[in-house]
Amino acid sequence: MTQTRDPYRELERRWRQLSTGGNFRLREVACPNAACSLLCVESGDPGLATVAIAAGVHGDEPAGPWALLALAESRRLDSRFAYRIWPCTNPTGLRMGTRTNADGVDVNRTFGGRGESSEAKAILDANRDRVFLLSVDLHEDCDASGFYCYEYGGGTIGLDVIATLEKNGYPIDPLDAALERGRMVPDRVEEAELLGGFSYSLAIAPHARHTLTFETPSSAPWSTRLAMHGEAVCAAIAAC
Ligand SMILES: [Zn+2]
Repeated sequence: MTQTRDPYRELERRWRQLSTGGNFRLREVACPNAACSLLCVESGDPGLATVAIAAGVHGDEPAGPWALLALAESRRLDSRFAYRIWPCTNPTGLRMGTRTNADGVDVNRTFGGRGESSEAKAILDANRDRVFLLSVDLHEDCDASGFYCYEYGGGTIGLDVIATLEKNGYPIDPLDAALERGRMVPDRVEEAELLGGFSYSLAIAPHARHTLTFETPSSAPWSTRLAMHGEAVCAAIAAC
């Protein structure tokens, strides 16, 4: 892990550095009333089927943003697709190491309507210009014993993701015995009611053919969590 006093500043520096190579186009998306703007990174011809990848909406789940950066830096993203990348959707949370943003808001419950937080508003507004083939949001779970995912949209890409991680020797969370191993397939409306708000994935699902949320176990070694997210994203893209 890149340990600095301000992990978001370091993350931003690395994305800016990567974007000078020409394969990634970086822009700042204004986030009115928030302490900082959001980074949005694009790659590929916008006419290609687009994959949206987001991370860092919970600032105490750092593996997602760093795994996403590592994926981009290692050029493992399949060039048959275009990408819209949100490197960190809660910069102040990552900076402080908190689930919420600097205003104490769980950003991942504010994606209802046109957005109920500055971050959600900015993301929903920017994402309105596209529909997505695949959307992935990267999280971590301190109670999990292995990797698991949520899948929306009626597809079965999550099954390929779980099979790939298992084949590569990573632990899979058994989840509840009544559920599938490693994959939950929730009803969007029921989940929003249960959560008390719309998450990023719940909001983007109607605009994406496949929508997945990935969760790595916070108790696993750092390198394992990064590798799990990387493998999972590549497996999901390969299954499209
Ligand atoms: Zn989370």
